[in-house]
Amino acid sequence: LKISAYGATTEGKVREHNEDYFLVDEKNRLFVVADGMGGHAAGEVASRIAVETVAEMLSTGGPEQTWPYDHDPRLSHDANALARSIRVANRRVIEASRQDDRLRGMGTTLVALAAREDAQGKLLCYVGHVGDSRVYRVRPGRMDQLTSDHSWINSQVQSGAIDADTARRHPLRNVITRALGSEEDVDVDIIECEPREDDVFLLCSDGLNTMVEDHDIMALVHKHSRDLQAAAQALLDKANEGGGEDNCSVVLVRMDK
Ligand code: CA
Repeated sequence: LKISAYGATTEGKVREHNEDYFLVDEKNRLFVVADGMGGHAAGEVASRIAVETVAEMLSTGGPEQTWPYDHDPRLSHDANALARSIRVANRRVIEASRQDDRLRGMGTTLVALAAREDAQGKLLCYVGHVGDSRVYRVRPGRMDQLTSDHSWINSQVQSGAIDADTARRHPLRNVITRALGSEEDVDVDIIECEPREDDVFLLCSDGLNTMVEDHDIMALVHKHSRDLQAAAQALLDKANEGGGEDNCSVVLVRMDK
């Protein structure tokens, strides 16, 4: 499978800064979205440090022994590399926030998709995830959310205390329970999947899914699946039409024959 990808971002209609950051690296088959938070410009710094660290660790990670953190025997080599790069990113965000008072308390979400071939030459997608940014997989006729938000509201939905529709409008829907930059180490969720031809993976910050309903996201990706730039623009436009209350970033990754 070959990979085509496109990413775009908008600050939205309310915020003065854009604290999201994204990476589209077709050569290294790495795609990342991060949604920073913190006063002044700190959120922008956190999301950029996180994305750049993951990219750096995965492209120049070097020999195995130079990696901090243990290898998780339940995960493949590539899944481990992704998880550990995100843990290093967490540490770099913390270190940066300690070096500059203006950056104190900054943090960021992060979703990353790395496509890698296994020993048999089969292409696999690894999704790494912390926070409430999301990865969806769009196939003909359906869309699946691969990540599960690390947010208080999602824990309420999972336990059945609040239904999904109420959750969309809940005043506490922005409270996230896991982020880079808050603790010395962070748990990274890793999802592994085998892509099919014509799959489109959508990485996004919550500025998309809080402004646009899933069925509209799916319809727009289906409509523009052969033109990812048009798909990205349509999604950002829809988020702004829906209120544009937050920064919104999308990265679309299509698997081609
Ligand atoms: Ca956000």
